[in-house]
Amino acid sequence: MIVDILTLFPEMFVPITTSSILKRAVTRGILEVSLTNIRDFAYCKHRVVDDYPFGGGAGMVMKPEPILLAVESVIARARARGVVNTRVILMSPAGSTYKQDTAARLSQSEHLVFVCGHYEGVDERVSQLVVDEEISIGDYVLTGGELPAMVVVDSVARLLPGVLGSYESSVDESFAANLLEYPQYTRPRECRGVTVPDILLSGNHKEIAKWRRGQSLQRTLARRSDLLSQPLSKIDEELLRRANKDSMISQNPGKEG
Ligand code: SAM
Repeated sequence: MIVDILTLFPEMFVPITTSSILKRAVTRGILEVSLTNIRDFAYCKHRVVDDYPFGGGAGMVMKPEPILLAVESVIARARARGVVNTRVILMSPAGSTYKQDTAARLSQSEHLVFVCGHYEGVDERVSQLVVDEEISIGDYVLTGGELPAMVVVDSVARLLPGVLGSYESSVDESFAANLLEYPQYTRPRECRGVTVPDILLSGNHKEIAKWRRGQSLQRTLARRSDLLSQPLSKIDEELLRRANKDSMISQNPGKEG
């Protein structure tokens, strides 16, 4: 996948593309990240990229022309390499809220172009002329689109085949099936008096899978019931009942009967 990031602060992306799993994706040739400074496309005397808002109001707005030229330039470069499908994404608090299924959808793309806004935002004509979708990473306002773009690139890249090792599988994790992930434990078996649930040490993989499903259901219901849109199946109801019973026992250890 080719990712083009259009930003006024390209240096912000260097740490994330040169460390950990994104570095691996780049090194393996699965992901290519190119950084473009929007200011390079500001052809006026002082290379100005922002201006006062028409109609008045606080702050500055990013001018449309440098962004449009930058988008056209990276698309032309991709076309010259035979890339036919490009998706242009504007990071914006007014966009659709980013979710795991958005990451899954974007991971199917050949070429993603991220436009990172700054100041009070981006002239609306950028959206009207070249943007395919606007994405918000949540209901809060950051100073720029760089961190949101990093969030999206990271979550998309880890879904690309060959990026995660089998031991880092993305299949079972939170949101993969509209459920939060079950609790995870590692060594030691006991930490400050708190022990790992016995079932995880049993070696019985069928029972472990059932326990995990029950825990996922219980956790999702308690923390994010909005994710559970369908009524539970009879099997899930039973696994949830067991998880609730286990919780009651662990909170009141003397009252198992
Ligand atoms: N005035 C804008 C508003 O009220 O919606 C906020 C502009 S914000 C200070 C500057 C830039 O940061 C935005 O253009 C966008 O690119 C980025 N940004 C800030 N918060 C974001 C969020 N939650 N999701 C995605 N991008 C965000």
